[in-house]
Amino acid sequence: MPLAPSLIERYAAHLPITARTPRITLGEGGTPLLRARWLERETAIDEVWLKVEGQNPTGSFKDRGMVVAVAKAVEEGARAVLCASTGNTAASAAAYAARAGLACTVVLPAGQVALGKLAQAIVFGAKVVAVRGSFDAALAVVRDLAASGEATLVNSVNPHRIEGQKTAAFEVCEALGDAPDALFIPVGNAGNITAYWKGFVEAAAAGLSRSRPKLYGFQAEGAAPIVRGAPVEEPRTVATAIRIGNPASWRSAVRARDESGGAIEAVGDDEILAAYRDLARREGVFCEPASAASVAGLRKRAAAGGARGPRRVVCVLTGNGLKDPDSARAAAGGLVEVEATAEAVLAATR
Ligand SMILES: *Cc1c(COP(=O)(O)O)cnc(C)c1O
Repeated sequence: MPLAPSLIERYAAHLPITARTPRITLGEGGTPLLRARWLERETAIDEVWLKVEGQNPTGSFKDRGMVVAVAKAVEEGARAVLCASTGNTAASAAAYAARAGLACTVVLPAGQVALGKLAQAIVFGAKVVAVRGSFDAALAVVRDLAASGEATLVNSVNPHRIEGQKTAAFEVCEALGDAPDALFIPVGNAGNITAYWKGFVEAAAAGLSRSRPKLYGFQAEGAAPIVRGAPVEEPRTVATAIRIGNPASWRSAVRARDESGGAIEAVGDDEILAAYRDLARREGVFCEPASAASVAGLRKRAAAGGARGPRRVVCVLTGNGLKDPDSARAAAGGLVEVEATAEAVLAATR
């Protein structure tokens, strides 16, 4: 039987849905869970799976939460939605607002958003404003605007976002017939690790799984406030989607870590970019740099002997690599250009 097209309909029993909630959809959720044979060989773990969230309609997991947040905003009579974003929240909010007939304003940290994400927000018709400052400064601005009643805030501080995003944990349990032993996930504003933990707890309670996984979250070294135990004034990393110095869901991320018996650790930009390249070249999966933090973290723990316990693990690949063409170009180096002859092309490929 084909999956119901709408995440809201498929998981209505687990979501804050009423008869008046509009069943909007762009076909979100139902993303592939792919076996990663190369990673299994490298890490000596029996089963490594990739949850490919870049296959969502706007190319990131943000769509799972956004469809619920926007539907609830419509139900509550909102005319407009508002968010701060490192890019993917903006792309998703702009798309679902367009779908639902709402206005959308997005506030971005100037010069820190990948090109494809900016293009999406603009094309979907959002009002896009760049502010001189970090993501954390942008979030403070939209919290102020939302408090004065300008529009409904759809950042992950909106609990409907977490509700929608937890459905990825249900899908993992359904696909594997149980929860994995461990889940590896990038951590930025920390909404997603919060959502996965909520989902795994509820999946176990609903009988979808017999156990709950350990959660391993990964921040970038230059943007690792939870690992360091203090906010980072000027977060720095190539992984722009997790370039966040003071995560809004800090406490719930720590709770997810501790209740699951997992860890939150840092990976370097070099490790992130190596995982980014290898995922594409060896597994055929093109994710964005921030997404590769999950696999970088798995490799790091495995190399240190820390991943020997789990036999079945899932790495969440949060977003699609096409969003960030500049990172791809930087990783691949320049193009060779030659005369349009067979000899010249052959010589160039030798
Ligand atoms: C938003 C995002 C993250 C970080 O998720 P949080 O919920 O903010 O921790 C990671 N990767 C990608 C691609 C994202 O868009």
